[in-house]
Amino acid sequence: MNRKLYGKLIFELSHEGSKAYSLPKNRYGDYELPSCMRRVADVDLPECDELTVVRHYTNLSGNNFGVDNGFYPLGSCTMKYNPAINEEIAARKEFAEMHPAQPLNTCQGALAAYYGLQKSLSAITGMGEFTLNPFAGAHGELTGLMIIRAYHESRGDGKRVKVIVPDSAHGTNPASAAVCGLEVVEVKSTADGTVDVADLRGLLDDTVAAMMMTNPNTLGLFEPEIPEIARLVHECGALMYYDGANLNPMLGACRPGDMGFDVMHVNLHKTFSTPHGGGGPGSGPVGVRAGLEQFLPKPRVVKHGDKYELEAGGDGDIHVGAFLGNFGVELKAYSYILTLGRENIKMVGPLATLNANYIKESLKDVYELPIKGLCKHEFVFDGLKDKTTGVTTMDVAKRLLDFGMHAPTIYFPLLFHEAMMIEPTETESKETIDLFIDTMRKIAREASEEPDLVKGAPHNTPIGRVDDVLAAKHPVLKYIKDED
Ligand SMILES: *Cc1c(COP(=O)(O)O)cnc(C)c1O
Repeated sequence: MNRKLYGKLIFELSHEGSKAYSLPKNRYGDYELPSCMRRVADVDLPECDELTVVRHYTNLSGNNFGVDNGFYPLGSCTMKYNPAINEEIAARKEFAEMHPAQPLNTCQGALAAYYGLQKSLSAITGMGEFTLNPFAGAHGELTGLMIIRAYHESRGDGKRVKVIVPDSAHGTNPASAAVCGLEVVEVKSTADGTVDVADLRGLLDDTVAAMMMTNPNTLGLFEPEIPEIARLVHECGALMYYDGANLNPMLGACRPGDMGFDVMHVNLHKTFSTPHGGGGPGSGPVGVRAGLEQFLPKPRVVKHGDKYELEAGGDGDIHVGAFLGNFGVELKAYSYILTLGRENIKMVGPLATLNANYIKESLKDVYELPIKGLCKHEFVFDGLKDKTTGVTTMDVAKRLLDFGMHAPTIYFPLLFHEAMMIEPTETESKETIDLFIDTMRKIAREASEEPDLVKGAPHNTPIGRVDDVLAAKHPVLKYIKDED
């Protein structure tokens, strides 16, 4: 680690006797703590003056990278700009200081927001009813599969234990099916990267509970055979599940509910604005088509006349979390939807798609494009076109950091050895996208002319290239004093 650039740890800035606090005068007289409650040794806490503390943490925060610092084309994640007004709404004390168990007549406004978001999601996706209770996309998948299982059980159909998942699926799909106690069966992709319907036909029988599909899929491709797949799956008595994590490019283009899907989840923290780097916070609402509402998890917000109420659960109802989900994320999503409005929200999908295709076409002469043609919100390169340089996708990703841009998703999907998955989103200007294209072209040039420069990257970041294997296998998570 480069200490000079990175700055010292707060412990190294410690100076005995310095402090950044002052306590009020004692107005109550002295009191001796019983000896059993007293420490026997001092805690080793840093002692710093206030300005040192402020500078230390301000400088540390400057080492963080987010959408607010620079371009962040992380594929499969939809890292779009999250308007600050959403944060202001969610942070209002009328919302933030609520107690989840307070009487319903004191929180009608919050319930109205919750209910309004459920209805907006139904309108956007074409599904009947939504629950906002699940806390993430993967949690939504699990909830959706529990609903599907409850549906089959309610018909006395106990033999449906399999879930069909495409080989291109996000890893959470098979994981959720397994957690739900179902058996995962993989369906192949064709050479053009979409579900192989002939292979699917051979897998369908009366032991299949559901088919999970992501659309556009993880290669950024629209699945053209959905109507036929839905027909086949329904014909054998199974249900269609839509992984809606990639809903962004569909906004304004089409609705899963109109395509024959029965159950779906949406990632509010991808499509509907919430900063979600580093694993949270999230929200994975689940929607069902008309006729499956009774299987949605409880409690649920319902409206009787002009009053909002909670429909409580009973024995046998699905329950996926205490209370009503991640309310702050739900408020941000509702604020985002209302800010854009019915007309502008239709522009999200087309603009995200335009931006992705513009980058793809501008770079395909220097980066290997394994799947050609129109993509949706994201696409995959398979490393540099020039395979003689020895420069890998990892090297290109690290070199991008030197130019102040976040790397795309790399080495995913697993279908390509040097995969580099790029998703610009709709919120970037043409100038930013052109700068990214120029930078990627410059790195490709460097790879041919000065490969060592790229292989040694990053050169300008606080921390150089880390050994990911060592970092994962032997992480050092606590401060160890330098011996010298
Ligand atoms: C992100 C993602 C998920 C999982 O969502 P989480 O909120 O991270 O649990 C599932 N499927 C796809 C296609 C995704 O991109």
